[in-house]
Amino acid sequence: MIGGNKDLWSLSGLSLKNVELSFSANGKTFSSEFGEMLFTHKGISGPIVLKLSRGVYEQLAMGNKVWANIDLKPKLDEKMLRQRIHNELVETPKKEYQSLLKTLLPKLLILYAIKITGVDKHKQSSTLNKQEISALISFLKYFCFEITGVESIKKAIVTHGGVPIDEINSSSMMSNIVPNLYFAGEVICLDGPTGGFNMQKAFSTGYLAGFSASVI
Ligand SMILES: Cc1cc2nc3c(=O)[nH]c(=O)nc-3n(C[C@H](O)[C@H](O)[C@H](O)COP(=O)(O)OP(=O)(O)OC[C@H]3O[C@@H](n4cnc5c(N)ncnc54)[C@H](O)[C@@H]3O)c2cc1C
Repeated sequence: MIGGNKDLWSLSGLSLKNVELSFSANGKTFSSEFGEMLFTHKGISGPIVLKLSRGVYEQLAMGNKVWANIDLKPKLDEKMLRQRIHNELVETPKKEYQSLLKTLLPKLLILYAIKITGVDKHKQSSTLNKQEISALISFLKYFCFEITGVESIKKAIVTHGGVPIDEINSSSMMSNIVPNLYFAGEVICLDGPTGGFNMQKAFSTGYLAGFSASVI
């Protein structure tokens, strides 16, 4: 997926694990997934991004603005996260802000977090004010940027076919329109999420189409 800005693209190569990625349009979240993703030189990719890309494509095709939100601490709600940061500040009050971030974020994300939260990296933890702590929590829970496009079909994992399923007899895979023409796999207007569903569809429909064609 394409999106973000130059600052975000500087994170290219960074992989995030155990995050919650969600997408919204018109103020409503339309999809979300927990797992692994990565930053690229022009946006984001990786398993959960691929899983959610169809919904994003559809929203963009409708002309809607789409926003990605990464929750970097999905297992902690805001209250728990605030408490965790508070504990850290009490235990190590002299720690610089940049060192505090090391306990919360992957190394490659620290400079970006400093820029987004606008807090001096040398500031001592104990002197962080309410707004600065809120800015940090906001970054950890609502790391948000606009998605402007999806990659070209050359990079797609599945194409959503061409032949509508209501034009195919599902007990033989024969065309309802052209007798003795059989369809299987990717050419059918049907797709599933990543995880083997599309290959299974290709194997099952291929077997049925081949078997049906052999017995006519
Ligand atoms: C990078 C990538 C990763 C994927 N990962 C997964 C995954 O993890 N899980 C999953 O379920 N699915 C995955 N898929 C999708 C899955 O591979 C496809 O849905 C499935 O292979 C489709 O099978 P098919 O036989 O219909 O088409 P294809 O596998 O595309 O086979 C079509 C064949 O027809 C040949 N061909 C094309 N034109 C002609 C012609 N004119 N004459 C003769 N031969 C021709 C092609 O060379 C090709 O060998 C992935 C796809 C890609 C691209």
